[in-house]
Amino acid sequence: MAEEFDPSTHPHRRLNPLTGEHVLVSPHRTKRPWLGQTEAPSAPSLLKYDPQCYLCPGNSRSGGQKNENYVNTFVFENDFAAVLPGPPPTAPSVPHPLLQTEPVAGGCDVLCFHPRHDLTLARLELSDIEHVINEWVSIYLRRGKQEGIKYVQIFENKGAIMGCSNPHPHGQTWSLSEVPTLPATELASLARYAADPASPVAEGAPRGADGKPCLLCEYAHFEIGVAEAEGRVVVKNEHWVALVPWWATWPFEILLLPYHRHITSIDTLSANEKKTFADILSRVTKRYDNLFSTSFAYSMGIHQSSTPGSNDEAHLHLHFAPPLLRSATVRKFLVGFELMAEAQRDLTPEQAAGRLRALSEVHYLDVLEQEAAARTEA
Ligand SMILES: [Zn+2]
Ligand SMILES: [Zn+2]
Ligand SMILES: [Zn+2]
Repeated sequence: MAEEFDPSTHPHRRLNPLTGEHVLVSPHRTKRPWLGQTEAPSAPSLLKYDPQCYLCPGNSRSGGQKNENYVNTFVFENDFAAVLPGPPPTAPSVPHPLLQTEPVAGGCDVLCFHPRHDLTLARLELSDIEHVINEWVSIYLRRGKQEGIKYVQIFENKGAIMGCSNPHPHGQTWSLSEVPTLPATELASLARYAADPASPVAEGAPRGADGKPCLLCEYAHFEIGVAEAEGRVVVKNEHWVALVPWWATWPFEILLLPYHRHITSIDTLSANEKKTFADILSRVTKRYDNLFSTSFAYSMGIHQSSTPGSNDEAHLHLHFAPPLLRSATVRKFLVGFELMAEAQRDLTPEQAAGRLRALSEVHYLDVLEQEAAARTEA
């Protein structure tokens, strides 16, 4: 007789219902015990203000423009934008139907989260994170209502190993005349779930517009009901839950979403939903930094309605895709089998969630500072 299936022991595949992609899970390879931190905590040697930084207040950028002496957040149009303002030229004729092309127009904005060069979301005050959230809302509204714009992607790419050359806390927004591949795929999955009367909706779970099933309302509701010890929830507050999704590709990937009601986009958050959004962003990023006592690198993106008020089935959520695997320097690469076949992981999402759940929400640098202060007093 075949052994009973145990997802913490037996190799298996999991399906990502948002993208339709699978991830191969090989938990039998992680039998070695978790040895924890082996490198000394990295204390940053960053200046509060860096005269060479093109994002610090009052400094000049390479195009010659001067940054404002901002005190909270600061937005400017990217001097090296990936797309140009519309209207785009008409589609060219192509030499073969296999060579499809479509012109794309749009705009790219840079958002400095804070004037301090040495801080990150994990070390900002909640009121500062609320400033960032409000700025995301206003960029989303401004760009999303611009003629010809069909999609607004807000994201943060953080850390040198992610190819982000400047540590100054900042994110970007790319607004396009087309919906890009990944959000288009996810929106189609959400639409299919909403349109199918057979889609599961648990008793008491929130629903989407017109009472239709919502894939993410349902998923968040399910995860919150799983016993903590065997579940994937890392942290939750009154409105938001951060979890390592069942189908996570990256070792410590997080899906962050509101679970109380179907929320389509950040411009429809209540005051309290914004406040608790800042709270959970702070707690997630602190835990991330504490995992390997380093400023944790990641790409983070906000997925929501393509543009404000667009009649799609979006449920607001954030993805955190961090590459680190075992320490501040050992990262996962999506190469080989993963590039040629499908994503693969050893650590199960449940194990990853357990590790993130066990961490403190006091930032390790604050602990180091307190220890140093205590030594000075003694
Ligand atoms: Zn700076
Ligand atoms: Zn929903
Ligand atoms: Zn998404």
